[in-house]
Amino acid sequence: MSGWWMQGNATGREFLQVAVKDSLKVDPVCKMKVKASSSIKSTFNKQEYVFCNKSCKLKFDKTPEKYLK
Ligand SMILES: [Zn+2]
Repeated sequence: MSGWWMQGNATGREFLQVAVKDSLKVDPVCKMKVKASSSIKSTFNKQEYVFCNKSCKLKFDKTPEKYLK
């Protein structure tokens, strides 16, 4: 039974990784949907945020609190 559980868990994790890779995140600055795999990103409070372009990232980096509620 534990073997079944572990197998199910591994499959679930793989599925999650694929889902995360292709999923969309919301740019906290302009609220646009951006691919989670975008290279324009910032980490704040251990959370990763992605942006549609560098100017959004710069705005966020200056005052992240402003865009997070
Ligand atoms: Zn943006």
